[in-house]
Amino acid sequence: MHAKRSTPPATSPPGRLRRLTRSLRAWFDAGRLGAAPEASESQRVEWVRILPFVVLHGGCLGVLWVGWSPVALGVAGGLYLLRMFALTAFYHRYFSHRAFKTSRPLQFVFALLGNSAVQRGPLWWAAHHRKHHRHADEPQDVHSPHVHSFLWSHMGWVTSRANFATDAKQVPDLVKFPELRFLDRFNVIVPLLLLGGLFLLGDVLARTSPGLGTSGWQMVVWGFFISTTVLFHVSVSINSLAHRVGSRRYATRDHSRNNWWLAVLTLGEGWHNNHHHYPAAMRQGHRWWEIDPTAYLLRAMAFVGLIWDLKPVPERILSQQTRA
Ligand SMILES: [Zn+2]
Ligand SMILES: [Zn+2]
Repeated sequence: MHAKRSTPPATSPPGRLRRLTRSLRAWFDAGRLGAAPEASESQRVEWVRILPFVVLHGGCLGVLWVGWSPVALGVAGGLYLLRMFALTAFYHRYFSHRAFKTSRPLQFVFALLGNSAVQRGPLWWAAHHRKHHRHADEPQDVHSPHVHSFLWSHMGWVTSRANFATDAKQVPDLVKFPELRFLDRFNVIVPLLLLGGLFLLGDVLARTSPGLGTSGWQMVVWGFFISTTVLFHVSVSINSLAHRVGSRRYATRDHSRNNWWLAVLTLGEGWHNNHHHYPAAMRQGHRWWEIDPTAYLLRAMAFVGLIWDLKPVPERILSQQTRA
């Protein structure tokens, strides 16, 4: 056997240094599309790389110093709703499932808004989600609470080296847009702009309207850290809780469940068993009483011509009464 010239193993000091540099660089540049993870790194948590994610949670404790004000709470709530809509309507129903059509400019606007939710880029999100539907609750499902622990299915998987890369093969229809590829690779830019914008807003309000009782840092803590952290945990509850808790109308081959309170919190995503049974539809509530604010808003957007070709739930699906 000849000694091969190769990169040093990850456990050697040069290998560790190389990995550390790569992790730090990934804070700003998630890398090109399709970079496959190294097999040996599959299910390990990349602590350096996810430090910003830890800071996002830790930043919520800033409330102990900055206090609160009605205007900061209002901004936090408004940003929660706006970004939840961008995630459910566009990251999920549009980018992942192509449940309706829209123009390229509006596609980009909602990709930006979704990106501000700090759930990485639209290609990364859609690629993982399409895989989830293909292998729901099977060993290949990286966030199944029936394959992995509940905590891993909820948030562990996003911290693992195996799942950082965007698998371009899953999203051939989306990778052709350079603006989406850019957002996916440099997905830190929009969240940082939001954070900076919130500081400026709070600072200007503190100077011009001191009676509001807010400040730059208070606006950052509520509008960015708290709003984004709550948004994250509610969103990923669809991966964890909605495959554990709730009822099953349809006998899908996965463990997806319908859950009214998750539907309220996620603007309609809680009807997850409905969604797994017929993922292509624009709406997820299959009965009039199954609240789905995302679908109502999408209908309003279609009414004014911003989106079109909304895919309905076929009558044959609605008339099914199967129960698992
Ligand atoms: Zn699911
Ligand atoms: Zn889906």
